This record gives sequence, C-alpha cells and structure tokens, in this order.
Amino acid sequence: MADVAYIRSLLKEHPDFPKKGIVFLDIFPLFKQPRAVETLLAHLVHHLALSVDSQVDVVVGLDARGFLFGPPLALRLGAAFVPVRKRGKLPGECVRASYVKEYGEDIFEMQADAIQPGQNVVVVDDLIATGGSASAAAELVLKQGGTLREFLFLIELTFLGGTKKLPAPAYSMIKID
Ligand code: 5GP
Repeated sequence: MADVAYIRSLLKEHPDFPKKGIVFLDIFPLFKQPRAVETLLAHLVHHLALSVDSQVDVVVGLDARGFLFGPPLALRLGAAFVPVRKRGKLPGECVRASYVKEYGEDIFEMQADAIQPGQNVVVVDDLIATGGSASAAAELVLKQGGTLREFLFLIELTFLGGTKKLPAPAYSMIKID
C-alpha cells in the first residue's frame, strides 16, 4: 500500500544505538512531516473500523513513543487516552507489571482508576520487538477488568516473534523480517 511505503521511507536506521549490535529504527523523522502523521492516523483509524466491531473506549499508549500518536488516535476515535509509564512517574495509586526488555528489566505502571471493567481497549506503541512491554501493558489493562480488543504497532520486528506472546490480536503497519 502506498501509505505504508511512504511511512516506511521516512524511518531512519541507526546502527549500534543504544548499544553495539542493535539497529535502532528512529520514528521521529515522520513527525517532522504533518502529512506523514495524517497518513499514519488515517491508516490506523481505517484499520480499526474494519477490525474492531464496537466503539473503542480507551487507547492505552506505552511510554514513551506510544504517547506521540496515542492521544491523536484517541481523539479521532472519541476515546479516552491512558498512559502506561515507567515506574515512579505517575501520581496516585497505581497497578504494576514487570517486564524484560530488549535492553534490560523494568516496571510499568498505570493509574488504578484509569480503566473501567468491560471497557474496550486498544494498546498502541511505536514498535514491538520481543513483546515484553506490550505484554506488561496488557497485564495492567486486564488487572483493571478492561477488554483487550487489539494491539497496534507502527513497526513489528517479526523475527523476534513478539506478537505471539500477546493475549489479543495485533496489527503492525510495517513488518520488518
Ligand atoms: P519489546 O518490549 O517489544 O522488546 O520492545 C519494544 C519497546 O522498545 C517499545 O516501547 C519501543 O519503543 C522500544 N524499541 C526497541 N527497539 C526499538 C527501535 O529500534 N526503534 C524504536 N523506535 N523503538 C524501539
């Protein structure tokens, strides 16, 4: 599809970042072009209209790049936006889940009253690698009684098999083999 090829053309590869042997895909060049952001959001909204047969109540975005397109996506869907943040960043009572990342271990938190039981939730992030962070976010949604409808990623590193770990369907706009 033309929009997928267009977005893919804007991603920049950084070899040996944040450490040797890792090729980091930078999504920030995309945000320098309003047309690219518009294309991305329209693509995701169109996809959700086909894949989720009911109103999306909550878009959950993962710290930190899930915050770039989670809120505008939520706005277009008429949904709430809820952040998942790394430990110690959110005020008030929080639920927690630990996860192992490509680059080490961490804890994710979500505010304890963020999701009401039965709400339809989609989880968004820029990239899925091992699936550790998206799985931890799913744990937080399920702890609050949310119904996980779908995971949305801009990029999937398919060779790491991360989407296989997830407890709901996943859609990735760009797949890298
Ligand atoms: P996972 O938990 O699936 O192993 O790693 C996914 C997380 O790591 C995402 O939150 C993502 O932002 C970050 N990440 C890992 N590698 C990359 C990369 O090459 N590019 C970008 N933009 N994010 C990455």
